[in-house]
Parts: sequence; structure tokens; C-alpha cells
Amino acid sequence: MKQKRQRGKKTIKLHTITKAVTHIRLTLANSGKLAALDALAPVYLALCQQYVTFFCTQEQPDAFRDTIFVTSLSERWHRVAIQQAAGIAMSWRTNREQAYQDYLDDLLDYHEQQVDDSLDEQADEPAWHEWDVPTLRQTCIQANGNVVALEPTQDSTFDYWLKISTLEFRKVLFVPVKLADYHREALAGKTINRSVILNKLGDKWWLTLSYDEVVPIPTEPNAPVVGLDVGIANFVTTSDGKHYGTFHGKLRERQKRDREKRRRKAKLRKCLEKKGVQKLPSTTSRSGQRLIRHVLQEINRAVNECFAEHPDAQFAYEHLSVATMKHKARAMNAYMRASNLAHIPEQIEWYAAKRGIQATRVKSAYSSQECSVCHYVDRTNRPDQQTFCCQVCHFREHADLNAAMNLACRVGDTALAACQGRAPIKALLLQRHELWKRQNGWP
Ligand SMILES: [Zn+2]
Repeated sequence: MKQKRQRGKKTIKLHTITKAVTHIRLTLANSGKLAALDALAPVYLALCQQYVTFFCTQEQPDAFRDTIFVTSLSERWHRVAIQQAAGIAMSWRTNREQAYQDYLDDLLDYHEQQVDDSLDEQADEPAWHEWDVPTLRQTCIQANGNVVALEPTQDSTFDYWLKISTLEFRKVLFVPVKLADYHREALAGKTINRSVILNKLGDKWWLTLSYDEVVPIPTEPNAPVVGLDVGIANFVTTSDGKHYGTFHGKLRERQKRDREKRRRKAKLRKCLEKKGVQKLPSTTSRSGQRLIRHVLQEINRAVNECFAEHPDAQFAYEHLSVATMKHKARAMNAYMRASNLAHIPEQIEWYAAKRGIQATRVKSAYSSQECSVCHYVDRTNRPDQQTFCCQVCHFREHADLNAAMNLACRVGDTALAACQGRAPIKALLLQRHELWKRQNGWP
């Protein structure tokens, strides 16, 4: 096997992942030294916030926009603030737009159901709540080499100088950086990126360094595509019909017990409150925290197992939108929080990047309603949570498996990838359904 691999002509693609080395504490020889940084932080944060608001409400984010606000920061710091704000505003706009499209889609569904009289009695008309512009609460400075530079030292008591330009003209702050052994190990032989992150938590400053690592992608370009559907009944379902992990069974039992416990605690709190007790038991439960950690571990295990059982495949996984996650979580009576569900694609992405496995994120819109045989899209193709049954060609399959098969087909589907929003995707799929009908002599 090994020999065959060496002889075979194989073009190995490369891709880079950025790895962060976090929690490097900025300690000081003399305590007043970071005062200059403390003085800079609020000015920077306020300026960054101004641009965030501006880019979210007035103009499209532009990292290289001309300056518009007045500040006591230097031109270079001003540029850093604009860049960081543009990044924040960009992801806010993307997420908001996605959520808004999902809302429009829900609304359309709602009205369609109203017309054909299939509306669930308990269903409320979807409402749109405009998103608030992000508020920068914590000091987080994404600085580049123009304002912060890391230089190795000859001194043996610490590893680097962090040179930070300050509010005072031409005054540069030299902060010694001492690495822990595990930081040193992680950074050994690496070229550290010029951009660094400075975080202030409480009165302490922390530094995050990063480096780029090149990971070869050993996946054959024509390797079979395995689609991964993400859910709660099955954390991952593959398009070849395997299931990995579940929230049912033990996790669900634990979740129920935890909820009961919280209910009892809330009752107790009310009772004590009436009696005028000052110190009340907290409502956050430690077992709840443990449960969340446990769910994440189970998700990791399921994803790792799935990859291990498909050594020669490439993968297609879904780009879960906020609304899809909420919908999937709601479908299971909120046994699982949407944020937990979001951990599944994150873990897929991380595992694939780490091992250099080709994994493509594809659009998830209508992947659960589309028939993988004739492309007919309709809500009624899902008579219940587990079942997919096409209303036209009567193809019947486990719902998650049908979705995984659709996702696998979306790798390299440029027409679908080019669709903006969900409505054009539905239109495209129904067009394909019409084509399928003609080709198969459907009446
Ligand atoms: Zn069908």
C-alpha cells in the first residue's frame, strides 16, 4: 500500500491554518509600566466602536477607508482601529443578512401554509427584530506590526520585547514577554505572525501570538464525497448511511435531571426571597455546566469517529445558519441549545484542517426538504422528524440520510453556490426538478 502511494502520481495541495498561542500574561518588572497601555485602551476602544457603528449603519465596511473621526491616537493606531472595526462590522453584517434572509423565508413559508390551510395552530407569524449594532465591552486590540512589534531578546530572564507605540508621540513602550514552557514548546521553530492580539481582563493584560502552519491535503482530488448532515437525534449522519453520536439516551436523561434540579432551585429561591433571605442560591447549576462540557466531548468523539471510519474520503458539511440551528434545536423541543449544535460543524472544520482532509462547506438551505432523487422541494416531504418521503417520486429514506446525500452533491455545484439567499436556491432546485420530470417522462 505504501509503495503504491509513493509510485502513484499525486499532487498534494497545501493549505495554511493559523494557530493561536493564547494566555501569555504580560507581567511587569515595574508596576507603572503598563499605565501607558492602560491609557491607550479606552481611547482605542472608543474609536474602534465609532467605526464599528459607522460600518454597520452608514457605509459598507472598508478596512482601508480614509479616517473620519478625530482621536488622540496616532495615524497608525487609527488605521489599526479601522481595520479591526471593519472586520467586526463585516461579520455582523454577514450574520444579520443571513438571519434576515432566513426570516423572510420563514415568513414566506408561514403565508404559504396560511393559504393552503396547513398552518400549525400554535405557530406565530415570524417577526423580525432588528439587530443591535455590536458593542465593544472588553478591551481587545488586534494590532499589526505598525504599532506593536515583537523582538527576541538576548536577556535570559524573558523571551521577547513587545514594543508598543503609545499615545505620546514617538514614545515606545518596551514590555518584557516571558513565555511559559508550553508556550515556548508551541512556538519552537515557528515564524510568529506580525499581528498580535492584546486583551485586557480586569486589570491584567494578556497577549495572543499566532503562527501559520502549512498542512498538506493528502485527499485525492477525485476522492468520493461523503456528505455530513448535522442534527440532534444523530450528531452526524453520513451520505453512506452511518450515524455518529446522539443527544438521545444518556445525554437527554442527564439534561432532564438537570432541568428538574434547576426548577427546584428556582422554587427554593422564590421561597427564600419571600422570607427576605438576602443570600440566595445561584441559578446556574454546576451540573449544567458539566453537561454542556459533556455534550461537546460527545460531539468531538462522534466527529473523530466519523473521520476515522472514512479514511479515503473528502467531505461536504453544511453551513448552518442561525435560523437553521434554532430550527433544528426547536424541532427537538430545545433539548439542545443551538450553540451546542453549532459546535458540530466547527469540530468538523477543525478536525479536517488539522489533519489536512479536504472538507468543503456547502449551503444547507433546503437540504432537508429536497428530494435527493428528483430534487422536488417541499415541507411536506417531511411527514415527521425522521422520515423523508418525496411527494412526487415517492423516494423514501431516513430524513438525515437524504439530507446528507444532498449535501454531498453540493460540492462543486457552482450554480447553487452562486445563489444569494434561500429563495433563489429553492427556485434553482425546482428548476432541476422540472428537468428531472421531463427527462424521466413524468406527466
Ligand atoms: Zn423525489
